[in-house]
Amino acid sequence: MKTPYLEVVSEDALAKRIAELGEAIATDYADLNPVLVGVLKGCVPFIADLIRAIDEPHEVDFLLLTRFGTKGRVSVAMDTAISLEGRHVLLVEDIVDTGLTLSTLLRNLAVRQPASLKTVALLDKVPRRIVEVPLEYRGFEIGDEFLLGYGLDWNGRYRNLPGVWAVMDMERLQDLDESFPEAVFASTVDGSSEIAR
Ligand code: 5GP
Repeated sequence: MKTPYLEVVSEDALAKRIAELGEAIATDYADLNPVLVGVLKGCVPFIADLIRAIDEPHEVDFLLLTRFGTKGRVSVAMDTAISLEGRHVLLVEDIVDTGLTLSTLLRNLAVRQPASLKTVALLDKVPRRIVEVPLEYRGFEIGDEFLLGYGLDWNGRYRNLPGVWAVMDMERLQDLDESFPEAVFASTVDGSSEIAR
């Protein structure tokens, strides 16, 4: 029987890669005082770790999107408090899948005339892309599995898992609903897959 879930990015791998991203961003944005804009809610663990890896002055703000339909249509449900006009903006995303959400969001933010507008995404589901979107900073390339943990949810749950997990069998995961996080925190599931590069 195939395993219902598999760890694809461990806590240690996340920490190492985010430290590298933070260092690159600190170098590229030195003296620019960028605004990092996190896209709620999935960005929360990522942006919390990322900003602590950026050893240069910057500000942090957030956006919350409402999704409607299936074509990546989104509207801004909660906007940034900081004006983005004339600022160096770095959008912080948990995951880019089809790219539809990000392309809509980039269009929305470009209208506000930032001095520059770039994106950092922790996870990039390359095989699922429908529209090309620029990703200046990227944590990991992954396959097309449904992922949970480290900010990513299923029905609002599992954002608290310390690593990123792929759901290999959704039906069995639903049966195991209560024991899944227990197993993760007790590290009783062994072996990482080759899904993340
Ligand atoms: P896109 O518009 O690029 O197709 O989708 C982006 C959004 O879809 C992400 O911000 C995230 O909310 C959701 N998403 C895409 N793939 C996954 C996944 O594997 N797991 C979870 N939990 N959400 C995902």
